Amino acid sequence: MFGEPRYWLAQGRYFYGPQGELLRSVGVTQDITSMHLAEEALSQTGAILNSFYNAASILMGVVELEEGDDSDVFHVHDNAAAERYFGLAPGSTRGRSARSLGAPDEVIRQWVAHYRRSQAELRPITFSHAHGSGQDTRHWSAVVAPVAGTATTPTRRRFAYAASDITEHVATKLKLEQTLAQAQSAERTLQALLDYLPEGICIADAAPDVRIRAVSRYGQSLVQRPGEELVGAAVNVHMDLWDLYRPDGSRPPPEDLPLSRAVLHGEVIHNEELVLRRRDGTEVTLLCSAGPIRDADGDVKGGVIAWRDIEQLKQLDCERTALLEALRLADRRKDEFLATLSHELRNPLAPIRTATHLLTVPNAPADVISHARAVIGRQVDTMALLLDDLLDVARVTQGKLVLRVESVHLHEVIDAAVEAVRPHVERKRQSLDVQLPAGPTIMQADRLRLAQVVTNLLTNACKYSDPGGSIRLSAQVTDARVQISVSDDGIGIPADKLGTIFDMFNQLDSAHRRAEGGLGIGLALVKGLVGLHNGTAIAESPGLGQGSRFTIFLPRGSSDAPDAEALLSETVSASGAVRVLVVDDNKDGADMLARLLEVRGHVVRVTYNGRAALALAPSFRPQVAFVDIGMPEMSGHELAIALREHPWSADTLMVALSGWGTEQDKSASERAGFHRHLTKPVDVTTIDALMRDAAQRR
Ligand code: ADP
Repeated sequence: MFGEPRYWLAQGRYFYGPQGELLRSVGVTQDITSMHLAEEALSQTGAILNSFYNAASILMGVVELEEGDDSDVFHVHDNAAAERYFGLAPGSTRGRSARSLGAPDEVIRQWVAHYRRSQAELRPITFSHAHGSGQDTRHWSAVVAPVAGTATTPTRRRFAYAASDITEHVATKLKLEQTLAQAQSAERTLQALLDYLPEGICIADAAPDVRIRAVSRYGQSLVQRPGEELVGAAVNVHMDLWDLYRPDGSRPPPEDLPLSRAVLHGEVIHNEELVLRRRDGTEVTLLCSAGPIRDADGDVKGGVIAWRDIEQLKQLDCERTALLEALRLADRRKDEFLATLSHELRNPLAPIRTATHLLTVPNAPADVISHARAVIGRQVDTMALLLDDLLDVARVTQGKLVLRVESVHLHEVIDAAVEAVRPHVERKRQSLDVQLPAGPTIMQADRLRLAQVVTNLLTNACKYSDPGGSIRLSAQVTDARVQISVSDDGIGIPADKLGTIFDMFNQLDSAHRRAEGGLGIGLALVKGLVGLHNGTAIAESPGLGQGSRFTIFLPRGSSDAPDAEALLSETVSASGAVRVLVVDDNKDGADMLARLLEVRGHVVRVTYNGRAALALAPSFRPQVAFVDIGMPEMSGHELAIALREHPWSADTLMVALSGWGTEQDKSASERAGFHRHLTKPVDVTTIDALMRDAAQRR
């Protein structure tokens, strides 16, 4: 059997005789197997190291430094990579100085410093350095270590070095850092958008799970779920997180939701409506837009969805449509009104024209003339009534009509209204049944306006009922309020028209109306006047042909005794006189004008300066004010401006009295709020004409 080979060292000596014959031999053998194996191993290690040394891409070698001289470094040997770097043939760097190999002084200085340090600290020193500039800068990573000196080089120190060119690595690292910084900045921007954008935004990861990665703060509040509940949830499977359905009421399966479709199929979805029922049970309509997030290769890596709450928009849209509809209706009504108005105004014109012609016929019989006069009178009255109504309704809608509230007897008001309509009711042979509470009922109201309201209701009842029909007026009174109802058995009102019947110019279609239909403002006036009394008006009817009932509810107001000015108003209104205020610092002038007006039957108050006039006017509420312009302290213009501050003054005819009458003076008066500008001395005819105007204005 053979074992491991063993190596022997044999030494011996042969001893020969004179004839050269071998006499004897002396020898020693020594087993050197282990020494042989050690040498072999050493040689193998050397070969391996050598092949690593030369195969390495790292520059390696051994250098020497002159003792005490730090100006250069001498290469003892370098590996193949170093030789290639220096551009020299194998073995040709040996003995060359770094400087002669092209190393710049600065670089040599740095290396020497590191060599010295490793020498001092007796350990390897690792360092990196760069040299060159701009694009040509190269980065190196190096390690140097001291090597024990040899007997042959006593004045030199040896060092091993290894250096690797890390320029690419540094560039890559720099790029990575920049990319990371960009990514972080993009992340922060996205977070800011998610935090502050008033939009529901949700970002999800790729299929198969389609999990929510982030939800904007606004989105969280919109769905009433905190981010923690939402993030991580999978969108494409059923979730209790939200209850979504389509506007038609159907429920989309989770994989059909916009975000699922964006991620699963790369679909881009624009403005799809979904209704969300939230945690608190409220519902919002969401306008959803979604799309996929793709990587550089175009593969879908996730998806994003934005929701917007369009509940408010929808509401606004509804309101806008309703508003447009209302405007269109108002416009149509205005057109119809204008047509009716011209018709109503033209109607009385024909008989007036004929009657006027008759009056000019020579020798016309006396009865023809008086009939013609009567016709003119009646028709003019009709026109005046129409115009009064028009004027009133305009003042109510512009908020310019001021009530003259006083203590009034309900019975008186009703009586006045009944008297006004009685001729019409009698003409149509209708019955009018009035039922009032027994005993006097005093309430706070504008006597004339309230009578006007009741007259309008009674007139309508008469107009919109057949001849022979019955009309009923009843009133109920409590401590707090008065309720007046007017009902008839006439043509009635369709249910769908009851809600708008009090609107201005609202008239039911012409087939419904009778020839005697007016301008369509009577009920608007009723509502406006009742509203000014802080009351309400309602219309009721079982339907067409079944009669109607109109009821007004009015607060009674304080039933205290009427104050002095209210009593004065009452007297004045009853007598048909006009309340006049005269303000002039010329005492004689003021007194004379007052006398004249009193003789004409008007109620006059005189003050000789603006301040006194301002103090008196609010309680007296003049219907006409004659104001001198040139007064000390407060001029007539200043007084007019101050008086105009009071709402009641909208009904006051303001007349400026001045010694000056140029166009400039007149326009200055107009600017201050005067309706007329009279130049002193004013003649009686002008005053009388003006007071006639004023009486008609009332
Ligand atoms: P006018 O009578 O001038 O047309 P109103 O404002 O007084 O205007 O009335 C508006 C509309 O309401 C009338 O055109 C009529 O169609 C309807 N109306 C008013 N009162 C009655 C009633 N008592 N019965 C039936 N319809 C009525």
